Amino acid sequence: MKCFLSLLLLFLANISFSQITINRDPEIENMVKEVSADSLQSYINTLVSFGTRSTLSTQTDPKRGIGAARKWVLKKFNEFAKNSGGRLTALIDTTTVQPSARINTPILLGNVMATLKGTDPNDPRIFIISGHLDSRRSDVMDKTGDAPGANDDGSGTAAVIECARIMSQHSFPATIIFVAVSGEEQGLYGSSFMANKAKKENWDIKAVLNNDIIGSSNSNETNIVNNTKVRVFSEGIPATATEKDLARIRALGLENDSKSRELARYVKEIGERYVDNLEVELIYRTDRFLRGGDHIPYLKNGFTAVRITEMNENFNHQHQDVRKENGIRYGDLHGYMDFEYLRKNTALNLVNLSNLAKAPSVPRSVKIDVKTLSNSSSLSWQAPANGKAKGYYVLIRETSASMWQKKIFTSQISITIPYSKDNYFFAVQSVSESGNESLPVLPGIQAK
Ligand SMILES: [Zn+2]
Repeated sequence: MKCFLSLLLLFLANISFSQITINRDPEIENMVKEVSADSLQSYINTLVSFGTRSTLSTQTDPKRGIGAARKWVLKKFNEFAKNSGGRLTALIDTTTVQPSARINTPILLGNVMATLKGTDPNDPRIFIISGHLDSRRSDVMDKTGDAPGANDDGSGTAAVIECARIMSQHSFPATIIFVAVSGEEQGLYGSSFMANKAKKENWDIKAVLNNDIIGSSNSNETNIVNNTKVRVFSEGIPATATEKDLARIRALGLENDSKSRELARYVKEIGERYVDNLEVELIYRTDRFLRGGDHIPYLKNGFTAVRITEMNENFNHQHQDVRKENGIRYGDLHGYMDFEYLRKNTALNLVNLSNLAKAPSVPRSVKIDVKTLSNSSSLSWQAPANGKAKGYYVLIRETSASMWQKKIFTSQISITIPYSKDNYFFAVQSVSESGNESLPVLPGIQAK
């Protein structure tokens, strides 16, 4: 009888554990429709019109150089702020950078930031979208010649502006920061300034989406044209892992489960839920060869951050003076962009920021019971600190699987599932009334 009962329970369990269908949140779906390829194109045309946006270029010329460019971005943010009910505020956060390998004289560096304050005064969470405003010539020290930087990183900056335009007309319980940093090409100065400050001032940053080169759909060598795929780079072993963290990672096989890797998985799932004809490719690396980006200073400060970059890069159009040589056109001009592709990659950011900021915070004290050897697993957790959870998703995947394979909904705060803790990874997400899920939390070990 007992055996029959447990079989019956397992059978029932399997029914409720079948894959659930998740409907799109209509508010996010409508915001996606507002992302405009034309708006993005117009931002990039303006950015290119500043001639150069080298961090070393003039800051006093009203029409040319980084100074004029950052004033224009600030002007755009302030336009959006007018209709935000006072929730969006913008400023240029400046610091003086001393000479170094790629800076020959002290420079007043400015990050253009717009902050969309969360509606819940008790919710400290911050989500960030970042792009870099500065551009460069073949010679990174050349501060006067043209450096259009349409894709690198006009594309990321345009995505930041477009997300601010649309999202500032909506409200979210958590805070979102839209930032166009400078000094990236000279050595990640703007993002380092911001990440270091955030660490020092204990900002509760939960995720950073760094967008760098997201608007061209063709490579230079292979003639591949594809605007249906985008890459998300994420670190495996955290940059700040201590010896104790490393021991835990080794013991539990967590080398593929850093917070940034979980964010990358989240970006893929939510992106593909809302943005049609866009596949997100997870790249298990912090960044590409010979390149680094603005997510790295955040990682070094212990924050969760990923880099979003186009699938097929055209290296003739990056970091190159505009010229024609042996029949090949070089330079980062807006004519090489694919604005429909940029629209989708911008929407990818928008849906992720919106879903994160609408979700409750993560479940607290997530634990897995490992007191006994068993072929089922018991997890427990507590309600999130911020926001109301309608329930929770329990995520399950095989240890060799890249993405979470099962997603079970429960309104309870504990669950026993017929999957062995030895053979699977688990995580838990909080879910809001409108179906927005938090980032997943991997369980801690409950040994006694
Ligand atoms: Zn770049």
